[in-house]
Amino acid sequence: MTSDPDKLHIVFHPAQTLRIKAAPVPEVTDETRTIALRMIKLMNEAEGIGLAAPQVGLDMRLFVVHVPEGDERSIEDDPPTATAEPMVFVNPVLSDPSQDLEALEEGCLSLPDIRGDVRRPSQITVTASGLDGNTFSLRADGLLARCIQHENDHLDGVLIIDKFTHTSRLKNRASIRKLEKAARAK
Ligand code: ZN
Repeated sequence: MTSDPDKLHIVFHPAQTLRIKAAPVPEVTDETRTIALRMIKLMNEAEGIGLAAPQVGLDMRLFVVHVPEGDERSIEDDPPTATAEPMVFVNPVLSDPSQDLEALEEGCLSLPDIRGDVRRPSQITVTASGLDGNTFSLRADGLLARCIQHENDHLDGVLIIDKFTHTSRLKNRASIRKLEKAARAK
């Protein structure tokens, strides 16, 4: 399915792979585990809190998330707003979004130097398979809920620039153009 996992790297907008609707992972195998571990490494190196398979050029419904505990984030929160360690979500499905919409600034490892406000429900439930192949469910709040929704969007080819508020879109217009121009120059 893939080439050498060691060669995986983060791709930037406007890479085609960021716009695919990713395919379900038929089965969690050793290869899935190798890919997920490599993605966690790439996420850590880039100092990100989440990374989705299309961001490393893979057509797979899989993402990794690590929202470390911080001033306003804890695994003790109910629902949790952080994770104790990196987590892997295979074939995730989101459900039961809270009715509210919160606007908060987001960035993306595939959109360097671009940050803007995105409105999302503050709580969400995610059901997915883990690397052991077993299904689990997690209700999340705060930054963790936001991160899971951001990564899940990647699996449907959706980027934060599609969801920016009008003001954020205007603010980032030059940076987005610059990124698109850099790709064309290659
Ligand atoms: Zn992203």
